[in-house]
Amino acid sequence: MGIQELLSQFHAVASDPSAQKNAYLAKGKKIALTAPVYTPEEIIHSMGIVPMGVWGGDLELKESKKYFPAFICSIMQSLVEIGMRGTYEGASAIVIPSLCDSLKVLGQNWKYAVPSIPFIPMTYPQNRKPEFGADFTRAGYERVICDLEKVTGLRFDPARLDKSLEIYNEHNAVMRDLSETLSGHPEILVSQRSDIFKSAFFILKEEHTALVRSLLSELKTRPAGPEKIRIMTSGILADAPALTGILDEYGMQVAADDIAAESRQYRVDAPQGNDPLDRLVQKFRAMDNCSVLYDPEKKRVAFVVEEAKARKARGVLVILTKFCDPEEFDYPLIKRACEANKIPCIIVEVDRQMVNYEQARTVIETFRDLLSQKQIITGV
Ligand code: SF4
Repeated sequence: MGIQELLSQFHAVASDPSAQKNAYLAKGKKIALTAPVYTPEEIIHSMGIVPMGVWGGDLELKESKKYFPAFICSIMQSLVEIGMRGTYEGASAIVIPSLCDSLKVLGQNWKYAVPSIPFIPMTYPQNRKPEFGADFTRAGYERVICDLEKVTGLRFDPARLDKSLEIYNEHNAVMRDLSETLSGHPEILVSQRSDIFKSAFFILKEEHTALVRSLLSELKTRPAGPEKIRIMTSGILADAPALTGILDEYGMQVAADDIAAESRQYRVDAPQGNDPLDRLVQKFRAMDNCSVLYDPEKKRVAFVVEEAKARKARGVLVILTKFCDPEEFDYPLIKRACEANKIPCIIVEVDRQMVNYEQARTVIETFRDLLSQKQIITGV
């Protein structure tokens, strides 16, 4: 398959998750929806169930407003709206982690808004590093296993979890390679990059690994396209076609990302070990550099600066999901650290309900001008 054909395939998967869901159901597969972030997909996968990511969608909110105040992030609201419209029907369950206040509310509301799809909580500890935190995480995973067995009638087998952990580690490695390889190929558009990352939520990881590997082997044999303005993106989600379209229009290239729906989830692998469930616990325990993971030292801030430098990004674009408290708290620190390192940093606020991106366009246009001028003056 050539590059264009592969990119079209990623686009088809990313833009029509329902088609993937229906295809798996037609094959007799069970599906479990996985809300963001760090939901233990490996457990679901090991039980022969297809985990499908649900990060809401760009649409007008109507019915879900009955369940949420207006000032809650639109990822949650749109997720419930889509659920209430029946789009997720056929799924056996939804697993929702507890990593921010909005997610805690989501689980409770889901039970009443979409009663046809059972809610399974994944309750994570605030302190994931100490021994007691690891025990708490393990208890959360055991609860997910127990609930999944109840709703699907399928059995959990630790040996199969071991295999799934390897499949997920392999996928992580391929996605890290992808991010680095795309950094050297500006001809791949921001919107196409977004499709590749987004499609990972809707097909089995082994299928996605195979597709990404094919793309990588094609890309690695061809010369890079003409240079663009290299930026680093940071935030929870950056998949709105209107936003990626503007970045493409202004000649930008995502040289690195710190996006929760993109590279953040692929940074840490499950370590080797004799107890598969403990391997998964240790993976979560080792995670860092994310707004929803408790970290009094805020190591994420230095991580963003170092990553931007390593990938030679000229500036950092923070894409803030409106009403996302964890990201709002981190932004002033990231901005200050970038400025101290002479890396321009700018913010655009996005919302799943946005139809007008003109404000974002103005910000990005200004950013483009600023970064172009910086290159003329400093040569970087
Ligand atoms: S982390 Fe932010 S974007 Fe994600 S669910 Fe919580 S409030 Fe919403």
